[in-house]
Amino acid sequence: MYPFNYHRPTSVRQASALLGKSEDARLLAGGHSLLPMMKQRLAQPSDLIDLGLVEGLRGIELKGRTLQIGAMMTHAEVAASDVVREAIPALAELVASIGDPHVRHRGTIGGSVANNDPNADYPAACLALEATIVTNRRRIDADEFFVDMFETALEPGEIITKIQFPVPRRAGYAKFRNPASRYPLVGVFLAKRGGTVRAAVTGAATCVFRCKEVEDALNARFAPKSLDGVTVPTDGLNSDMHAGADYRAHLIVVMAKRAASAA
Ligand SMILES: Cc1cc2nc3c(=O)[nH]c(=O)nc-3n(C[C@H](O)[C@H](O)[C@H](O)COP(=O)(O)OP(=O)(O)OC[C@H]3O[C@@H](n4cnc5c(N)ncnc54)[C@H](O)[C@@H]3O)c2cc1C
Repeated sequence: MYPFNYHRPTSVRQASALLGKSEDARLLAGGHSLLPMMKQRLAQPSDLIDLGLVEGLRGIELKGRTLQIGAMMTHAEVAASDVVREAIPALAELVASIGDPHVRHRGTIGGSVANNDPNADYPAACLALEATIVTNRRRIDADEFFVDMFETALEPGEIITKIQFPVPRRAGYAKFRNPASRYPLVGVFLAKRGGTVRAAVTGAATCVFRCKEVEDALNARFAPKSLDGVTVPTDGLNSDMHAGADYRAHLIVVMAKRAASAA
């Protein structure tokens, strides 16, 4: 580690003001992405602004047909929530599958979404479910939020306060884990709302994306069998020591079938 200033604001306004004071200040939520990056010198913030005591960033609520989760809710809290389990069981299952118990008890939904790791689970749920990311300044549709690898639409000084998920008619998630890191090598979240199916893929490319081939097949009929014979192009898919692009393309269809069975 190296020296940095540590701040513990109690309001979003204070946190935002502290963020604005230094170009290199970073928010600290669960620390399970930021602290490993600091240890590896991939991030060297001058100031850490701990959101742990900030009011208004917690809570889980169902408002009509919208599930609302505070940015500082940990993965373990979301996974254990009866409200989440009843409203969107597939989301509770996704969250329960993140990392290990230690990660789930520290990592937060706000931190995961803001980090936009190309292998993270939450972005797939946000994109498929048409979530809205609410910040201290505005509301951002998931379609606009996830820009590229570790890049989002968040502007300097912007703080995620909550995420809102419209409740779908059906939803399912399946992932093939990287056996070493346990992150998804490929994860597919399916959501059907109204008459339309959205399929969001994580782990396969530099950023979460929607898969047209899977959506077209499931829009015809929402059943695993509809995906028989469907192929996904390898364009833009990652090819690395863990898996080639062709294997990832194959896994997208297999995971989509499993997600459709689970939905
Ligand atoms: C061993 C290990 C295994 C893991 N496995 C998985 C896995 O299988 N699947 C998975 O999805 N994730 C996994 N993770 C990542 C984990 O879910 C992280 O906790 C999460 O990605 C980041 O959340 P955090 O609360 O820890 O954020 P932090 O590390 O505190 O912050 C991450 C980034 O988000 C910013 N930030 C935090 N909160 C906000 C906010 N409210 N508004 C704006 N910006 C904010 C920070 O400034 C920082 O840039 C794993 C992590 C570890 C260490």
